[in-house]
Formats: sequence, structure tokens, C-alpha cells
Amino acid sequence: MDEFDRASQVEEKHRQSCIQAVLKHARQKSREECLDCDQSIPQKRRDVGGIVRCIKCQEIEEGK
Ligand SMILES: [Zn+2]
Repeated sequence: MDEFDRASQVEEKHRQSCIQAVLKHARQKSREECLDCDQSIPQKRRDVGGIVRCIKCQEIEEGK
């Protein structure tokens, strides 16, 4: 096995674990109401999965 093969194998492994992490996140059920302000989260946003906050509160949370 040469260096290139080894590198692409590592790359592939990393890619797979990223995909798994995304799928795991997506399978989590979204909340119906925002965790912070209790406003209902739009269905379109909840469909993403794993959503716990409305867009506004999520932005505040990420901006911390
Ligand atoms: Zn909110």
C-alpha cells in the first residue's frame, strides 16, 4: 500500500464518520416549541431534525 492509498483510506473513514454524525443528528426529534422562548417552531424547520430552538434563539445561542 503506498502513501496515496493510505491517505485516501483515512479520508474515507473520516467521511463515513461525518455522515454517521449527521444522520444521528437528523434522527433526533425536533421540539415543537422553542426551548428558550416557547414559540412554536415552524414545521419546515423541525423537519431538519434535532431542532430545539427557533431561528432567532438559535442565532443568539450560536453567537455566544
Ligand atoms: Zn425562540
